[in-house]
Amino acid sequence: MRYKFCPKCGGRLILNENRELSKPVCTSCGFIFYQNPTVGVMGILIRDGKVLLGKRRRGNFKGQWCFPGGHVEWDEDVYEAARREFVEETGLNINITAVYTVLSDYGSIHEQFRRLHNLEQQNAIIWFLVKEIDGKLVAGDDIEEVEFFSFSEVPILAFPTHEIVLKKLKDEHLIL
Ligand SMILES: [Zn+2]
Repeated sequence: MRYKFCPKCGGRLILNENRELSKPVCTSCGFIFYQNPTVGVMGILIRDGKVLLGKRRRGNFKGQWCFPGGHVEWDEDVYEAARREFVEETGLNINITAVYTVLSDYGSIHEQFRRLHNLEQQNAIIWFLVKEIDGKLVAGDDIEEVEFFSFSEVPILAFPTHEIVLKKLKDEHLIL
């Protein structure tokens, strides 16, 4: 249980064990605190067999690389979120051409890689294939450097899910 107090009234949360999946419930107002994974969106831009990655500027994974992307905001369309995150981090405006894959960054992924994405956060991530429209390639927001890599050139990646997608791109001959 990640939270102790009700976000609506400040009452104490307890776990309601009567339900199939136990969820925190407020002892004052009855509010059920749903704890669901959030939605992440990532863009895959390939140029001449190389894929665009960004180097993280801060946080626990500072200095490690990842695909450009981020979280979908409340009330934000997932495609719009992917375009917004991509231009914020890379300076490039993009069109989304296809959904490439969808992954959960918890559960079996953790067991398989034996390293954690983030215990405090669980995400369902949608990976989009994208095409450039315009803009100038320049790192922004939480990213300090952007660069295209072939598979063998890729530096240390921040997250297991990103490694899975990178390998899939290589296996399917989408990158060199
Ligand atoms: Zn409450």
